[in-house]
Amino acid sequence: MDIIDPATGERLERLTPDDEQGIRDKAQRARAALPSWRATPLAERTAVVGRFRSSVQAHLDALAQTLTREMGKPLTQSRGELTALLSRIDFFLEHTPEVLEARLVHEAPGLRELVTREPLGVVACVSAWNYPYFVGGNVYLPALLTGNVVLYKPSEFATLSGLRVAELWREAGLPEGVFQAAVGGGDVGRLLLDQSIDGAFFTGSFVTGRRIAAQLAPRLVPLQLELGGKDPAYVTEDAPVERSAQALVEGAFYNAGQSCCAVERIYVRRELFDDFVEHFVAETRKLRLGDPLDEATTLGPLARRDAQIEVLEAQIRDATQQGARILTGGRRAERPGFFFEPTVLVDVDHSMDVMRDESFGPVIGIQAVDDDDEALALMADTPYGLTAAVYTPDPDRARALLSALPVGSAYHNCCDRVSPRLPWSGRGHSGLGCTLSIDGIRAMTVPKAWHLRS
Ligand code: NAD
Repeated sequence: MDIIDPATGERLERLTPDDEQGIRDKAQRARAALPSWRATPLAERTAVVGRFRSSVQAHLDALAQTLTREMGKPLTQSRGELTALLSRIDFFLEHTPEVLEARLVHEAPGLRELVTREPLGVVACVSAWNYPYFVGGNVYLPALLTGNVVLYKPSEFATLSGLRVAELWREAGLPEGVFQAAVGGGDVGRLLLDQSIDGAFFTGSFVTGRRIAAQLAPRLVPLQLELGGKDPAYVTEDAPVERSAQALVEGAFYNAGQSCCAVERIYVRRELFDDFVEHFVAETRKLRLGDPLDEATTLGPLARRDAQIEVLEAQIRDATQQGARILTGGRRAERPGFFFEPTVLVDVDHSMDVMRDESFGPVIGIQAVDDDDEALALMADTPYGLTAAVYTPDPDRARALLSALPVGSAYHNCCDRVSPRLPWSGRGHSGLGCTLSIDGIRAMTVPKAWHLRS
């Protein structure tokens, strides 16, 4: 399996993927490691995770470089991901005890009713490449803290980062078999999920998520899916134009638009439209496309090579054929690697793929709307339901609009944001279940009901 540097198109490394026997062995080692890890006192599990945190902190720069080299995220953004991973670890360390604490829910003469939470068991984590330290960590950190063992399949576009994580767990003193990484693409992911597992946590596309749900359904393996989005933002007639445009450029183009919660379409009140678009384009032109290892770069290459560029080109072709105008960008950058110019389209509507299908790249359509009802109808016109943003000075109006939308996260005057304290979840084609927050820790466990008569 070749690991390609998306900034140059050159091979960084060649790895041997796991074969069927290798995956079976890993699954057996995981099963064998479960009883003692599960029985390990929480204080000891916490100490291991604390040492893992120290290693992440100590190796932060090297880990950031590894990620940038294999998936092309600008180095400053890779560092940002790792710094924020530290806060997520802190959240999980602080809040796991309260999740695992036995809860007395009823007491009467001769009767006590208690709830305890037990780990799922052997947990498979099949992960995406766009924020590999985040999306992997959202699963394996609370999973390990609550006493599960983990089979981790990093994306084939973030394997080196995944293997470094496995090394850090070993260095932190995690016993053999408790955390194992598998190397390979979709076929290896499928094999992993065919093993004896007690829970599966997937981050990736809707198409793969649906396939995995069908694979696991006959065995009734508990499953969580964090899938894609087509996240909208709405700018009202009284929103501060410059500030909203700046924030939305960041939301659309951070990580080259390869965020599950990237802003993928914008609706702006007609009164404000020209002014907003002018600011938006000016801000977009400030992005610095270039070598992601260069500290000044704000827009790196696309991770998934030509395949993703073809999706963007097809969406732009479809839109322009139907009357959309390109105000900036619109094509592949003329340099080696897999770079695409940040692209702004106007005169767009919902007959165009770019306003309906996930782009997952630096392309955005901006559409004018006449009132809140039209904005709401367009924002809701998607099978996805990850996030939605409203830019308005009026909190009541924002709340009313966001309450009406079937999305997992609602943003007022912000976008493309994730907090460890809040549940991360999607509705519809954006997924099942949730990670992060107390709910995300609880998701790694199952309840046991105790009926205690004296
Ligand atoms: P993908 O679906 O192509 O791959 C995800 C993972 O699944 C990879 O590790 C891949 O090897 C594996 N895989 C592929 N086919 C498989 C199969 N049949 N069985 C088991 N595993 C299989 O997605 P991607 O390109 O890595 O990620 C991009 C997608 O992920 C986007 O749609 C994005 O929106 C979504 N995403 C969602 C979130 C979220 O929190 N909701 C976060 C990050 C990314």
